[in-house]
Amino acid sequence: MPRPILATIHPQALRHNLDRLRRAVPDAKLWAVVKANAYGHGIERVFEGLRAADGFALLDLQEAERVRALGWRGPILLLEGVFEARDLELCSRLQLWHVVHCEEQIDMLAAHKTQQPHRVFLKMNSGMNRLGFPSAHFRTAYARLQALPQVDEISLMTHFSDSDAARGIAHQLSAFAEASRDLPGERSLANSAAVLRHGRDPAVRADWVRPGIAVYGSAPDFPEHDTAHWQLQPTMTLASRIIGVQQLQPADTVGYGSSFVADAPLRIGVVACGYADGYPRHCTTGTPVLVDGVRTRLVGRVSMDMVTVDLSPVPAAGIGSEAVLWGRSSCGAVLPVDEVARAGGTVAYELLCALAPRVPVVVEA
Ligand SMILES: *Cc1c(COP(=O)(O)O)cnc(C)c1O
Repeated sequence: MPRPILATIHPQALRHNLDRLRRAVPDAKLWAVVKANAYGHGIERVFEGLRAADGFALLDLQEAERVRALGWRGPILLLEGVFEARDLELCSRLQLWHVVHCEEQIDMLAAHKTQQPHRVFLKMNSGMNRLGFPSAHFRTAYARLQALPQVDEISLMTHFSDSDAARGIAHQLSAFAEASRDLPGERSLANSAAVLRHGRDPAVRADWVRPGIAVYGSAPDFPEHDTAHWQLQPTMTLASRIIGVQQLQPADTVGYGSSFVADAPLRIGVVACGYADGYPRHCTTGTPVLVDGVRTRLVGRVSMDMVTVDLSPVPAAGIGSEAVLWGRSSCGAVLPVDEVARAGGTVAYELLCALAPRVPVVVEA
């Protein structure tokens, strides 16, 4: 028998979350962001659940090929554009729309031989200072693109650094509005947090929104708001089983480094899931876990193949009992991945993307 660990993808939850995001921005078109292999879920595994999207946004050409291979004929956007000139051939062949964020990408387009002019998303750096033309060069870049026979439609885009937090988006919104004023073309600005927190503003939802993490059932501004607040459902469950039980006496320790010391008799369960499965090693005693649907806590250090959990809230549990590390238990109890991420000092994005290749994955029927 293989180890009892299993990740389950929930297509119904993907559908629900997509619909939830649509209702926040009803008149905008929606890219489902499926970069990083659909945030660790697997592009092929999420495709059915997300096919009500208006397009798929990603940044790897091979992932774009996989979306086309699934039969998707609608829009696909390369969020970082091309990395070298010959990538443009694949853009022509697969009809990929691509971001243009620097002069070099315009040079490549100008040298590209194509029958079919491309649709591009001209990206402005409105304050994130990662990719994009600074406002002073944005209009010149637009004019250059407009003069190219290789380009037909130009859309305008920017990306927020603080849509999930207190600083907010006003400064970037006004920088973008100013630099793009009077320029024709569709606009795209909002990631998940901007859709949920600021989507009521027509300038934020614009023509296209680009949610990623909320599609995958994580609250983008956790812990200020949680998934219950945003009505999002977990799209990935990481579950395993208890493979060992120990009865501790006061002063007994658990695991490497003896980081947990029992102060009273304590029954603990050993779960077949460790950091080699993608469970964060930074999670310490207190991190929530569901055993047979009952919320309990991690005790001691995470090892490569195992974690240990407190069984006192669930005395009937024993070898073979279900342990949900994040997601939904078979009885319906939910443990949002956001809570586990926070306990490990990181964000849900990292946990979902880091699901290890050795974990078998199934799609719920
Ligand atoms: C990843 C990404 C998104 C999606 O962001 P979320 O926070 O996951 O919603 C949107 N736009 C761009 C340019 C991205 O790189």
